[in-house]
Amino acid sequence: MNFAPKKLVTQLEYTEFSFGPLRKQYKMIAGKDKVVTLLYQLRKDSKAGDLIEETPKEKPFVFLFGIGQLLPEFEQNLNGLKSGDNFSFGITSENGYGNVNPEAIVDLDKNIFVIDGKLAEDLLVVDKVITMRNEEGQPMNARIVEVKEEHVKVDFNHPMAGINLHFTGEVMEVREATAEELDHGHVHGPGGHHH
Ligand SMILES: [Zn+2]
Repeated sequence: MNFAPKKLVTQLEYTEFSFGPLRKQYKMIAGKDKVVTLLYQLRKDSKAGDLIEETPKEKPFVFLFGIGQLLPEFEQNLNGLKSGDNFSFGITSENGYGNVNPEAIVDLDKNIFVIDGKLAEDLLVVDKVITMRNEEGQPMNARIVEVKEEHVKVDFNHPMAGINLHFTGEVMEVREATAEELDHGHVHGPGGHHH
């Protein structure tokens, strides 16, 4: 990872994060070929911890099992469960989104934030999350930590870095993936792609 962004994306966006069990990076692993629908609560540290995220009942989380979209430990803990089963398990930060990397907290030159000759002050708000691009052109989310005279301190760590995750929830449905879903590598229909 290169923490040296040279420019902002042209179309700046405020990012509504969805953390859940999503992986940081895409990585192919062995597939189980099931489509799983579930409701979960994600809390910090334990099942009594602070609520981080919850799937709305009308919009459960639907995913294709075993294609590497999710944290591996998340799938391991759901392996073998069926409709109606409850689950409760923890994932340490090391196996979740990793530990906080101090090198990913950097001072950037303020002129990076000049757009069309004007400093984008509306972006330079502490705790605001913006999307930037690094030298390879990859998008990176950054949280504004501090706005100084000539620099802006930003944090490129994943917002969930350093946090132990605890999931509780219920499996709503397990079904076989269709050949087309496996071919496309995503779920079709409710909660999935429509095309
Ligand atoms: Zn498709």
